[in-house]
Amino acid sequence: MSTNEALFARAQKVIPGGVNSPVRAFRAVGGTPRFIARAEGAYIEDAEGKRYVDYIGSWGPMILGHGHPAVLDAVLKAARDGFSFGAPTEREVELAEEIIRHVPSVEQVRLVSSGTEACMSAIRLARAATGRSRLIKFEGCYHGHADALLVKAGSGLATFGHPTSAGVPPEVVQHTTVLAFNDVEQLERAFAAHGDELACVIIEPIAGNMNFVRTSVPFMTRLRELCTKHGALLIMDEVMTGFRVALGGAQSLYARQIPGFAPDISVFGKVIGGGMPLAAFGASRKVMAQLAPLGPAYQAGTLSGNPVATACGLATLHEIARPGFHAALHARTRELVDGLKREADAAHVPMAVDSEGGLFGFFFTDRLPHDYTSAVAVDKERFNRFFHAMLDGGVYFAPALYEAGFVSSAHSPAEIEHTLKAARAAFAASA
Ligand SMILES: *Cc1c(COP(=O)(O)O)cnc(C)c1O
Repeated sequence: MSTNEALFARAQKVIPGGVNSPVRAFRAVGGTPRFIARAEGAYIEDAEGKRYVDYIGSWGPMILGHGHPAVLDAVLKAARDGFSFGAPTEREVELAEEIIRHVPSVEQVRLVSSGTEACMSAIRLARAATGRSRLIKFEGCYHGHADALLVKAGSGLATFGHPTSAGVPPEVVQHTTVLAFNDVEQLERAFAAHGDELACVIIEPIAGNMNFVRTSVPFMTRLRELCTKHGALLIMDEVMTGFRVALGGAQSLYARQIPGFAPDISVFGKVIGGGMPLAAFGASRKVMAQLAPLGPAYQAGTLSGNPVATACGLATLHEIARPGFHAALHARTRELVDGLKREADAAHVPMAVDSEGGLFGFFFTDRLPHDYTSAVAVDKERFNRFFHAMLDGGVYFAPALYEAGFVSSAHSPAEIEHTLKAARAAFAASA
């Protein structure tokens, strides 16, 4: 039995499914999850000492790669000063200032410990600010596992959603409406039916939880117009895209194409913690004034603004704020996806690719998907074969076809080349 297999067997005895987050169990692709012992730069190493080029980066946070010296120093220094105080610190203020500096739509932020918590709190804030209950989310977008957000589309248009998880009472999701991503007509009908009861619409501007699907500019334009017209708040969930697709997040990319564009509430996580548990939600001062202790909306956290996590996040943001960082990351990521496409073409394997900054997606299909249905209508068997062939070849892509990929600044041309060579071999073996 391999060490990974032995660890997985042991883990399954004491942890449900052997993992602390379901995707890690390799259920979608089959096989044994790799237990990771250490990581450095662009590589992770499993319990058997096998090294992989890492395209997960802890699902987004590791934008500088693993063990970046400046970040490591900041974390070690902060740890020596104390792990947690339950009292305010200067570093929280600095991190809030740093986030706000790069995201003009945000005047104040509150720090929390996970993206789930941040999205859940953003919705409570929107409901408090509007005095309304209903929310719209889109099929295929993930906003953490809070009850009201674990909802799939009901049958037919703008019907009430159904819980996607056991343990979520139908009453809890009765205020959630689920619509198709990028469907302008359905959006208009939903606003016509429920617009004046809507507290908020929450969306991933580039959906990274159905691989990689951009919101179209006409859709985003109309969404902003309808929210404004009906007094609903637009929540942009940038937990994955924030500080990764661009320093100002995906909203900065849409603001370039849609005059005056800005969300009302933004949610961040992943990169802003640099690998430590840290997330945030932010908005205008007026909206944020709803939060306790200023206003009536309660929100709190024992470890919120944790001093070690804020040190890690701050050091990470300082590094990525250097001029040209995202342009270089974007170019490196493009080399990867263009290369994958080239190898697929050469092997007569249908593939569509897209990327922005250090976030990418590849699909075993001819055309880029535009919504959830088209994103999952790909050749699943081929993906699974490809995934395992790449893993054997020392390249660690996400173990499920509906997940995005992540490139860090530690990925050099050598790692891209290694990856493309492995892809060529994988296509040759299984195309
Ligand atoms: C990861 C993610 C979340 C949840 O964040 P956690 O820290 O895992 O709770 C929410 N929204 C989006 C878009 C995400 O990618």
